[in-house]
Amino acid sequence: MREVIIIGSGPAGYTAGIYTARAGLNPLLIASSVEAGGELMKTTEVENYPGFPTGLQGPELMDAFRAQAERFGTEVLLDDVIEVDLTGAIKIVKTGGGQTFEAKTVILATGAAYRELGLPKEKELSGHGVSWCATCDGFFFREKTIAVIGGGDSAMEEANFLTRFASKVYLIHRRDTFKASKIMQERALANPKIEVVWNTEVAELLGEGKLSGIITRNTVDGSTKQLDLDGLFIAVGNDPRVWLVENQVELTAEKFIKVEGRSSKTSLPGVFACGDVIDPTYRQAITAAGSGCVAALDAEHYLADVK
Ligand code: NAP
Repeated sequence: MREVIIIGSGPAGYTAGIYTARAGLNPLLIASSVEAGGELMKTTEVENYPGFPTGLQGPELMDAFRAQAERFGTEVLLDDVIEVDLTGAIKIVKTGGGQTFEAKTVILATGAAYRELGLPKEKELSGHGVSWCATCDGFFFREKTIAVIGGGDSAMEEANFLTRFASKVYLIHRRDTFKASKIMQERALANPKIEVVWNTEVAELLGEGKLSGIITRNTVDGSTKQLDLDGLFIAVGNDPRVWLVENQVELTAEKFIKVEGRSSKTSLPGVFACGDVIDPTYRQAITAAGSGCVAALDAEHYLADVK
């Protein structure tokens, strides 16, 4: 029986690993088979993580998180959790690789997943011109015309990054102001390869087997237009990954895992949650890391109490 199992390997999960390992709790961290490291593995330059004044690449930061967690004895398993039973005093965690683990506490750090536009053909064209990851796919759009959808920090970051490859980047946003932070907006607005298309949403994806363009709809007057494109990058936010536990722990109205006050305590004793899966507001690497620390301390206190 484990003292602690951590599910998730973003900044929250690895920080929970660092703290619980240093507390001598020999944590098992189940990191996913293909997405270990979480969303930062798909990002480029991270400029706002304190301690790195000249910035560093997202994957580099996550490698450092992992190395630090492992240094103190966190066991990292590259597998996917497919089922859990967290309701009893002994928590059961099953993986896609066929293993079943038992633990006294579980820390949920499952993060958030990219949001889709919900249009017909979106899945079919994914990987064939439609992408959610500029870092992964940008290289394929050298000297091409592409569009980025969204008005948040992710859309600004992706649009700027993609100008390294593409000859033209349309930045399409449904309103007439961006949600992104000022510095990120200013960078996108100053980039000569980026053309902002305000008050516009995607009505339809075009192309058979490969994206050829989109039909846009003006959100003010409803008018539509065809825009020929080689690539479309969707950066419209993300939703908390709660499917594993949604029938077991209490969720908020917005479907985040509900925690008690500033703690990481969920509605189930011995089950803690941290990072983007509990956070509808801040969702930064640094806030997720801080929240992972909270969860580790809460788990440690809980284990001391049950003893
Ligand atoms: P976000 O802040 O939630 O922004 C999502 C954007 O997509 C919004 O502008 C939203 O429009 C738009 N949108 C949502 N659904 C849409 C739809 N169906 N069709 C068209 N547009 C849609 O998400 P994010 O940009 O991914 O950022 C997530 C979090 O990560 C944020 O807290 C952000 O600060 C952080 N982040 C930080 C950095 C950085 O600091 N370097 C980089 C990336 C992300 P509305 O504006 O109309 O709501």
